Amino acid sequence: MGLLALRRYVPYLRPYLGLVVVFGVAQLGSLAAAASIPKVIQYIIDGPITHHQLGQLVPMAGLLVLVGLLEFVFIYLRRNYSGIASLRIETDLRNDFYAHLQNLQVSFHDNWQSGQLLSRAISDIATVRRFVSFGLIWFLQTFVTFVVVFVLMIGLDWVLALVVVVCMLPIAYFSKKFQDKYRVIARRLQDQQGDLTTIIEEMATGVRIIKAFGRMPLMQKRFEDQARLLRTTSLEGIKARALLWTRLNFLPNLSLVAVLLLGGVNVVQGHLTIGGLVAFMNYVFMLTWPMDAIGWVLSMSEECRTASERLNEVLDSRPEIADRPNATSLERCSGRIEFRGVGFKYPKSDEWILRDLNLTIEPGETLGIVGRTGSGKTTLAYLLPRLYDVAEGQVLVDGIDVRDLQLRSLRTHIGVAFEDPILFSASVHENLVMGRPIVSDEELKRAIDVAQAGFVWDLPWGLETRVGEQGYTLSGGQRQRLALARAVLGSPPILVLDDPLSSVDVHTEAVIEESLRRVLEGVTGLLVVHRPSTLALADRVALIDGGAVVAVGAHTDLLKSNDLYRALLSQEYETSRVQTA
Ligand code: ATP
Ligand code: MG
Repeated sequence: MGLLALRRYVPYLRPYLGLVVVFGVAQLGSLAAAASIPKVIQYIIDGPITHHQLGQLVPMAGLLVLVGLLEFVFIYLRRNYSGIASLRIETDLRNDFYAHLQNLQVSFHDNWQSGQLLSRAISDIATVRRFVSFGLIWFLQTFVTFVVVFVLMIGLDWVLALVVVVCMLPIAYFSKKFQDKYRVIARRLQDQQGDLTTIIEEMATGVRIIKAFGRMPLMQKRFEDQARLLRTTSLEGIKARALLWTRLNFLPNLSLVAVLLLGGVNVVQGHLTIGGLVAFMNYVFMLTWPMDAIGWVLSMSEECRTASERLNEVLDSRPEIADRPNATSLERCSGRIEFRGVGFKYPKSDEWILRDLNLTIEPGETLGIVGRTGSGKTTLAYLLPRLYDVAEGQVLVDGIDVRDLQLRSLRTHIGVAFEDPILFSASVHENLVMGRPIVSDEELKRAIDVAQAGFVWDLPWGLETRVGEQGYTLSGGQRQRLALARAVLGSPPILVLDDPLSSVDVHTEAVIEESLRRVLEGVTGLLVVHRPSTLALADRVALIDGGAVVAVGAHTDLLKSNDLYRALLSQEYETSRVQTA
């Protein structure tokens, strides 16, 4: 049944035990009402009808209506309460899933397609909910119905009951066969849905590139191919279910014929009353619906099992970058940074990106990082706020290994702006503050000034204007300036700026440089630089090559002494600008 895979969801049930109890009572109530209807019918046939006591017929019919009504009330309660509980569980589970995704280290997200995470967060969790709210209930209902009906049948005529049991035996065989087959199909179906989601997501984010390169037909074909795969798998699922239903529904009909034949003989021989036979037949009819349910329950349980396997693949990934048990917090950070013998490989890669890298940045100093493209500058910047952990060596802040610091404490002391200035679908204000507890208007204004992001005041709703995917579209340079303002907000003692001025014009760059110079005063800065002009901000420059620091020194000295450095920054105009700065 795959029910064991559901163990991990048991704690989610706990807050809603009250609802579950109401549901359980309603479930049993509806079953009791349904099971007593054939008994009342038997009583009417063998009593008032057989003995011509017409006066009792009306009250008996009234009783039947009452029992029927009771059943409906119980069914309503059952549906309602299972729905409420399962929706709450679904919400809790989804919240936890999201929290877990956020806690996982960056490298986890490097290795997962976003569509696969999306489909797990949305449709797999819904699949689990559907099983909990319908499947599990149908399973219980079917099981209890079978037991109750058989007990009642045995009470009427145990030989006939035995005949029915024998007729029903193939259920086990058919079910097992179906489960083995459907499990594979369900998993493939969910994976293919994830792949399809990824294609849609990539199209939505890359729509400009796709259009500019005229690649719509190509993307359409990729999508249609994937959609066709999904359809083929869905069809396989439908076929397997149809086969199971046909087989299962045949069984009650088979037993009905057997009951009619043998029961008929019993009535003629006087072992069974006509009312008893009718009640017996009614019980066999009561099994027809659960037969349908078995088909549903089995397919749902397999879907649920594979969906929870897919969820577990994410939920079982433990956050590799987390607080150590005795992690300390960083009090009054002076901002001394040291990379000591650092070696780094991206997880799942054998290539050393950084190896034996040594570098020290003194408090208040701004160090420029220069290197060829792909030399590992951004990677180095990632190591400081522990977006990745080193494979060898240590990164130290104020002499403490960053892995011995509380993540929260470490990260509040570091302001970062990376190459790709990501903004969220939220207001400018929310994008800047990003959950920092208290930010005064003064601080906000200062950060905006430093980043030369004054354009925000002219947006339609000022700081409250929504930007990001669903909002006002900003230019690359505007986004970069907002990202810079976000980094400097709250005056963190360490600033990591990865080429923060690449998309702004020369004039704006000069103005930002001027205010950045003031911000960088007194804070430790790690400044990845591509353009020589930005180097004016750096006190010293480190040249990275082959994964290590090959030269450190003042810009002018390096220009004279290092050929690679000169080659990388050889623009005459820029060089002269820096030299005179
Ligand atoms: P640029 O000047 O172009 O910004 P960079 O010096 O910042 O380059 P990095 O982004 O640090 O270079 O990349 C260094 C190397 O690490 C590259 O060879 C790149 O292919 C590899 N790399 C970067 N990110 C990942 C990742 N998430 N997984 C695996 N390899 C990566
Ligand atoms: Mg880079």
